[in-house]
Amino acid sequence: MNGELCAHEELAVGWAMHSLEPDEEAAFRDHLPTCPTCRHTVQATQEVLAGIGGAVRQEQPPPHLRARLLEQIEHTPQDTPAPRPAAPPTPLRPQHRRRTGRVLLAAAAALAVLAAGTYLGVRVTQLSDEVAAAQSRTDDLNRALLLAADPTTNRAVLRATGSGDDVAVVLSGPTSAAVMPMNLKPNDSGHVYVVWGASTKAPVPLAMFDVRAGSTTPQLLPWSSDAHKHTTFAVSLEPGRQPPPKPSEVLALGQVAPA
Ligand SMILES: [Zn+2]
Repeated sequence: MNGELCAHEELAVGWAMHSLEPDEEAAFRDHLPTCPTCRHTVQATQEVLAGIGGAVRQEQPPPHLRARLLEQIEHTPQDTPAPRPAAPPTPLRPQHRRRTGRVLLAAAAALAVLAAGTYLGVRVTQLSDEVAAAQSRTDDLNRALLLAADPTTNRAVLRATGSGDDVAVVLSGPTSAAVMPMNLKPNDSGHVYVVWGASTKAPVPLAMFDVRAGSTTPQLLPWSSDAHKHTTFAVSLEPGRQPPPKPSEVLALGQVAPA
């Protein structure tokens, strides 16, 4: 099994997703035949996209990849960038916006590849038994990736109320949403995480989700246009399988990046 790393790994993911810029594509076309690592990454990405979800061994992605994904999510375009005191905001050009979305998608896909058990150890035969179980989660993953790349999607990074650590990302679209747990403890079947809309005077329970050990795979949430109106979100862990009328303890809070 090949354990080499290659600096072009992200290009390999982009290649597999047909999302490279023309100059990158030309450069990578020359590189691919010479590099077993990249060929493997391309194949692994295609497998993930084709229908392999998070059922295989889960691992935390390397910190630099996760940091980059978070950075992309935080800086991914609303129509104007977050205001900085020193300089007037500059509208993002469509090219920039498309490219940023692409980078986000590639980063998310790279994360998915890693979450799928690392591209180094995955065997198709080993995976075949797991594909059926993973299928629904894979559909969720693909839809969440599309959601993440959609410029109409609101993004909120939720941070722990105590430590300020990044805990989860909420992607809120007009008709669907997803949550990506970054740093939440796995819950048991007697508890459930609840996403609250906190833009109203009293927080409103919007959706529930579970966190499996080690998983950072985005999960789709049932959503509504009313849920989409919220620009502040909170997460709590609740006993039982129903959201209470109000959160027992808010674990994390976050706001949608200014539009
Ligand atoms: Zn390579």
